[in-house]
Amino acid sequence: MASFPFILQAHQGNHQVELVYNGQQLEFDGLNLDGGHRIIKTTEILNIDIEHENSLVIAVASAKNGPTKESVLERLVFQVRDKANAVQWQSNVLSHVYKDIKRGRHFKVLVNPFGGQGHAKKLWETIAEPIFTAAGCTYDLTYTTHRYHAKEIAKDLNIRLYDAVVSVSGDGVLHEVVNGLMERPDAIAAHKLPIGAIPGGSGNALSYSLLGEDHGGHVTNAVLGIIKGRAMPVDLCSVTQGQNRYFSFVLQSFGLVADVDLGTEDMRWMGEARFTVAAVGKLLSQQTYPCELSYIPVETNVDKIRAEYNYRRQQSVVWADQTHDELDQSHPTIVDRFGGVNSQLNKSDGWVTDSEDVITAVGAKLPWISKGMLLNPAATPNDGLIDLIVFPKGTGRINGIQVMLGTETGEHIYHDKVRYMKVKAFRLTPKNASGFISMDGEHTPYSPYQVEAHSGLISVLSIEGRYARSMRE
Ligand code: ADP
Ligand code: MG
Repeated sequence: MASFPFILQAHQGNHQVELVYNGQQLEFDGLNLDGGHRIIKTTEILNIDIEHENSLVIAVASAKNGPTKESVLERLVFQVRDKANAVQWQSNVLSHVYKDIKRGRHFKVLVNPFGGQGHAKKLWETIAEPIFTAAGCTYDLTYTTHRYHAKEIAKDLNIRLYDAVVSVSGDGVLHEVVNGLMERPDAIAAHKLPIGAIPGGSGNALSYSLLGEDHGGHVTNAVLGIIKGRAMPVDLCSVTQGQNRYFSFVLQSFGLVADVDLGTEDMRWMGEARFTVAAVGKLLSQQTYPCELSYIPVETNVDKIRAEYNYRRQQSVVWADQTHDELDQSHPTIVDRFGGVNSQLNKSDGWVTDSEDVITAVGAKLPWISKGMLLNPAATPNDGLIDLIVFPKGTGRINGIQVMLGTETGEHIYHDKVRYMKVKAFRLTPKNASGFISMDGEHTPYSPYQVEAHSGLISVLSIEGRYARSMRE
């Protein structure tokens, strides 16, 4: 490969322009704009085309910083004299921009027109779709028309046709996709189909966890991650409840967090703020929830959990194995090592049981559970463990509000009333008659459930290969 910088002489009308690509950014000198100079980051370059013999067209998506949902999609057009030279320059730059990532991916896209405040369709049409098209990507689109529609689609999808399945909604649609893939006879192969998340719901935990607090709500950043990301292995939790078994990739919540998530449908108009407003109300009312909680602890010391988190971040990123050659058509057996909710707890597995009432008990695989809610800061994509957080009863309103405020930055886990641990599995048995249990933000019956993590069962498109930093060093 040629060495940096890659330089091309071009012009815009009467202006001579030098295009210099140095590996990190593309600089234009002599451009027909204020100052005659402009810089575009590698991540923002979508495509470079040569049209009509001598037009060089660079498609650029500038992701703005901050929570804005806007994008600036531009086509920068230059004229070139020496076409062969331009073709060489185009090839050099694009092969650096995309490296080993396939250009012009083909996606299955699911848009939930009722996701969030009903903005998902508009976000798709005005921001996401034009960026995909400008990057030379193609897609097959379905607007979901009912609950479980996304699951039905995932169950029947011809997985070989697509590079990923992408949802424009919240976590609920992805929860259905994951469960649809897992119910297929070829689930072992199907789970390798990467997932992409475009934030268009009111709970966009995956997007916030991938991109962080500032960028998680930003459609452009999410789309860039889907166009240029690699498949990152992500753990999936198997949940047994009654006679059912299903899968969860965000959280399994009981008590306050479940009430706030599911008992606030009438506050949907508030958007993401509804979770915070409802949580404060619940904490002030000091409502507690009787239950029995059993778990298999791996680490219960928060400082050790943080040390392990930081150690993991220093290790090199491991990408998912995307080979499809050993397609297993037989029904997969992903066996729960610790039995199901209806089996006896096996003492030799190291189960611990607490019978204390709680304000909330939440198992999770993602650090952010929504905007401003960094509930499980130590959660990582693939440590094979569940982050279990318990806020016991009897802590008082002041502690409650302190803990609540701490969830914005993840510092609440150091509060002496909070129990935060890494576990292999847990079982929660509600002791009262009715209430809410949330699995990835979806309703589930108010009955005992057991959760166990399975390593790297699905894959998610990501540029970084890990979640945004969610714990201090
Ligand atoms: P939000 O974050 O806004 O809750 P989700 O992606 O979690 O968005 O989706 C919420 C629910 O909407 C899911 O249970 C999904 O099955 C359901 N759903 C999807 N499409 C439709 C539709 N057309 N009408 C009603 N519900 C739908
Ligand atoms: Mg939801």
